[in-house]
Amino acid sequence: MTSPYRIHVDNVSLRYFTQQGETQALQNINLSVKPGEFISLIGQSGCGKSTLLSILAGILPPSSGSVFVDGETIVGPNPRVGYMLQQDYLFEWRTILENTLLGAQIQNKDMAAAEKRAIQLLQKCGMGDYLHHYPRQLSGGMRQRVALARTLVTNPDVVLLDEPFSALDSQTRLSIADEVVDVLRDEGKSVILVTHDIGEAIAMTDRVIVLSRRPGRIKSVHHMEFPSTGGKRPTPFEARGCPEFNDYFNVLWDEIDAHVEG
Ligand code: ADP
Ligand code: MG
Repeated sequence: MTSPYRIHVDNVSLRYFTQQGETQALQNINLSVKPGEFISLIGQSGCGKSTLLSILAGILPPSSGSVFVDGETIVGPNPRVGYMLQQDYLFEWRTILENTLLGAQIQNKDMAAAEKRAIQLLQKCGMGDYLHHYPRQLSGGMRQRVALARTLVTNPDVVLLDEPFSALDSQTRLSIADEVVDVLRDEGKSVILVTHDIGEAIAMTDRVIVLSRRPGRIKSVHHMEFPSTGGKRPTPFEARGCPEFNDYFNVLWDEIDAHVEG
């Protein structure tokens, strides 16, 4: 089946069942992402952002509805989908290169080719001088770059990022956002970024999707366009200096009810 969409979420709902009862986490989510497009999901804590990524990663089956990658239904973990979490989960006893190769080993890839690609990716992520270091020797920002290289080593078409920078200080966040976007665009990935940082969503992605409070539904969709740069997509850092940035920020701030406790 051919599909114009890299990712297609078709009417997905999810209920969690626990001993305490039932939680409707997501309700009737419909969403499509084209090849090479970057989108972000924002919304208050508990609105179902991580739940949606877990469904896309094939870790959690939806209660109803389906998700597709290039027209193929996702029914379990899929090598075409890479998932990068807030915590880097690097193994302390493995070198940076060995950590980067983990996914390739699990997927039984040709290890000589994987190692070549891992080294190229680490270089691209600015970590070429640290191949034989151990995670404890790296700063938080460097660890996240390694986590990105590890996510990309198996060459997924889709990259899911769940609050990947939230453990980093604000200065590191700004510089790593530029680098990460650079690498992901260069690699031609389709990206879904979950963040609670409105600025990050505006600066890094082409389209911002606001989820309502639980049960998470799509509340609104916003296209990030920057006419002031003459049509050229600004880097995340440049975007923050564009006049459009504040306008988008104000609109999205109102949309997510960020000023309301909860
Ligand atoms: P977000 O990432 O937007 O903060 P989550 O997707 O983590 O939100 O959670 C959405 C809702 O589902 C929350 O109310 C959360 O408490 C609930 N939830 C998440 N995971 C589970 C689970 N494994 N079992 C039961 N409820 C869960
Ligand atoms: Mg979450």
